[in-house]
Amino acid sequence: MTKEVYTTTTSQKTASPHKVYCANCSHCKLLRSPLGSGNQYQLRVRCDAGKWRKKLGDEKVYKYFTIARRSIESCDAYEPMGDPKEYIRELKKTLPIKDEVYNDLI
Ligand code: SF4
Repeated sequence: MTKEVYTTTTSQKTASPHKVYCANCSHCKLLRSPLGSGNQYQLRVRCDAGKWRKKLGDEKVYKYFTIARRSIESCDAYEPMGDPKEYIRELKKTLPIKDEVYNDLI
């Protein structure tokens, strides 16, 4: 997932070596979700392998600040980007603590 700099979180929990953390997968993509017609947006994450689905089959996206919590037992499309324990620890330092609203600087 693309790294960006935001406010920090104080969570001290560490990643489990037995789980797949979607944040550590190259299919986990960060995207901007526009708000209204202005230049404000919120950050969302999606699985570009199409694994995140609602009950009726539509694609599900998650709020960016929750992504470190998204883990599953296994995934046949998992493409790790590095050591999950290290990656999740560093990610938690940069994730916002809530669903922030951002502005384009243009
Ligand atoms: S491919 Fe699997 S591990 Fe990767 S983001 Fe999608 S659901 Fe998570």
